Amino acid sequence: MAIHNVRHTCNKRVEYVEFTSPIHFSVSTEKPPFFDLACEIGLEKNNRYRIAAVIYQKGRVISHGWNQPTKTHPMQARYKNRAERVFMHAEIHALVRARQDLSGCSITIGRAHKNGLTFGDTRPCNGCRDAIKDEGIRAVNYYYGGRFETEYF
Ligand SMILES: [Zn+2]
Repeated sequence: MAIHNVRHTCNKRVEYVEFTSPIHFSVSTEKPPFFDLACEIGLEKNNRYRIAAVIYQKGRVISHGWNQPTKTHPMQARYKNRAERVFMHAEIHALVRARQDLSGCSITIGRAHKNGLTFGDTRPCNGCRDAIKDEGIRAVNYYYGGRFETEYF
């Protein structure tokens, strides 16, 4: 199945690669587990990004994190998407705060707009996607282009 990965470049969405490895993918209009919680955390932290990530397993929250506008971390540097932007992303923050093996867990990434009712795109960057996969997480849920998407690893 050909799935296009999309990134932001100067506010334009550019389709640039197809995933090379087999990947399972689903789309839904239903919010994934803990999406509202992720949005609440992002709003509560009230930085300009408002992105938060919740790692869960069997209905239980294992860890959560939110975008760090200035703070970085060796793990973020290792998985950096772009060398000049190594501040810690919400997903990496949630990974490094986890106190247990994350094999088999899932992660939901949410970003509410300031009104708390509508959402921003939270498809993970390639660096975060690699870090999530390397930790053994099996599914990543996010909002993108007006719908909820899940990638299974
Ligand atoms: Zn990222």
